[in-house]
Amino acid sequence: LTNKVAIVTGAASGIGEATARLLAAEGASVCVVDLDSEAGKEVVRGIQSDGGQALFVRADVGKGSQVKRVIERTLKTWGRLDILHNNAYWSRNASATELDEKAWDRTLEVTLKSVYLGAKYAVPAMRESGGGAIVNTGSVHSLVGFAGFTAYDAAKGGVLAITRTMAIDFGPDIRVNAVLPGAILTPAWDGTSKKLRNRCADMVPAKRLGAPEDVARAVLFLSSDEASYITGTSLTVDGGMLARTE
Ligand code: NAD
Repeated sequence: LTNKVAIVTGAASGIGEATARLLAAEGASVCVVDLDSEAGKEVVRGIQSDGGQALFVRADVGKGSQVKRVIERTLKTWGRLDILHNNAYWSRNASATELDEKAWDRTLEVTLKSVYLGAKYAVPAMRESGGGAIVNTGSVHSLVGFAGFTAYDAAKGGVLAITRTMAIDFGPDIRVNAVLPGAILTPAWDGTSKKLRNRCADMVPAKRLGAPEDVARAVLFLSSDEASYITGTSLTVDGGMLARTE
């Protein structure tokens, strides 16, 4: 990814952090976007101390004016944009009868609207740079339902749907794909019991929870020129979770 410029959202933690670090290690200059300034700046310092290029921009990915500012800061710093990883999320989980309206709206705003906003402002910048690749983080929730995940399932189903739409709208110079992680051990799992983790690991053919790096490597592939004939599709990274029938 030498001479390439990437933006990774939700990059202060988990899958986004692992992706930011990997893209930077592969030579890209990386704009680390998150609401958490302290952790985001720490990721930037880590990349820089490994000899990479990185910049932190605090932004709420659900707000158009802030996403626009992320693109402007990236262009001002490095003059181009090649890769966007739309990865940040927020979620409150409950059945439709229990879910608060505000929680539905915020889940859809941060987890789905952000993908539309990212493309809206990144695509023109990528076109100016000669093309690019967008990778959206969906989930196994993009494909199947989980009890109580009303808003999150809607958002992740939507992420996969608009990944296809955007691939059609923006090809051939911009490719758009999704990664669909299964159970990946990140800070999003903080507070879950050892029993639940063991049960999730035991459920999948891989017999372990995923690591953020497992997903980051899929994002790297889909955003690289090695995936030049791959667009409008998804790569499931779930240790075989969805291969099971029971
Ligand atoms: P994480 O909690 O470790 O990281 C999420 C990051 O997003 C945090 O740093 C948080 O501050 C940031 N964020 C939250 N709201 C934001 C906003 N409005 N604007 C900008 N940044 C914001 O989570 P993770 O597990 O690494 O999840 C990353 C992605 O992977 C998400 O899209 C999630 O839905 C998806 N995913 C995760 C798993 C899993 O098991 N961990 C499984 C499937 C899909």
